[in-house]
Amino acid sequence: MPLNEILALYPQAFTVIALVVGLLIGSFLNVVIWRLPKMLEREWRQQANDILGLPTQPPQPTYNLVLPHSQCPHCSHRIRAWENIPVISYVFLRGRCSSCTTAISKRYPLTELACGLLSAFIAWHFGFGWPACMTLILSWGLLAMSLIDAEHQLLPDVLVLPLIWLGLIVNSFELFVPLHDALWGAIAGYMALWSVFWLFKLITGKDGMGHGDFKLLALFGAWGGWQTLPLTLLLSSIAGAVIGLILLRVRHAKTSTPIPFGPYLAIAGWIALLWGGQITDFYWQSVGLK
Ligand SMILES: [Zn+2]
Repeated sequence: MPLNEILALYPQAFTVIALVVGLLIGSFLNVVIWRLPKMLEREWRQQANDILGLPTQPPQPTYNLVLPHSQCPHCSHRIRAWENIPVISYVFLRGRCSSCTTAISKRYPLTELACGLLSAFIAWHFGFGWPACMTLILSWGLLAMSLIDAEHQLLPDVLVLPLIWLGLIVNSFELFVPLHDALWGAIAGYMALWSVFWLFKLITGKDGMGHGDFKLLALFGAWGGWQTLPLTLLLSSIAGAVIGLILLRVRHAKTSTPIPFGPYLAIAGWIALLWGGQITDFYWQSVGLK
């Protein structure tokens, strides 16, 4: 029997495979989250130097998603394959570098675990097929960009733009919504936050959000159609307001401290994509209109 038929017959097997693959992808996402902002900054610095006519910087050692090999930031001990098994190595090493015993940040195993569980959930939710596989790719991208945005207030185009195109491509096969809805979803998503941005800027003279946020909402329009946009905006505003207020209390931050909107938008859009229909039905039923 071919593998795809086995996975369709035994959804548990698909869920377990998704869990394992998700843990491994989570390990790779740790590299992306750590290195991509540094790679981009290096590139921008180079471009700025060129534009300003400053002397070009001496060539720097290769730094990309593959090279140099992972090493302990404290003692430069090269991380061997057995020390790089998602979550398991962390537990086995008791969260410390095998060479210098410096503590390894908990964010690494937590990201791997989150990615593994998220992947298993998607496999269980959709069952084996194209919707599950495409939602996995989308979710891995969203996880990486949310964690980068949370730390750097940056939603890299190199992650967001390909996923907007992918949304339009999958919906050209009507995977989630008809292409017409997806196209107008992408346009309306971008324009909605673009208008808010300019309105806010004209009134207050300040930048209220990043341009990455417009593109991220366009992404959800491309995947879920224009129909998911109101719910995505509503859920992200609620989450942003509640978590933002908590952070203000806990960290005693000022109201002018920039709070990245990307992670809230990503979570809200993801929920709207998976359960948007049920949530809006429930709403209309509860107000007695359906
Ligand atoms: Zn070390």
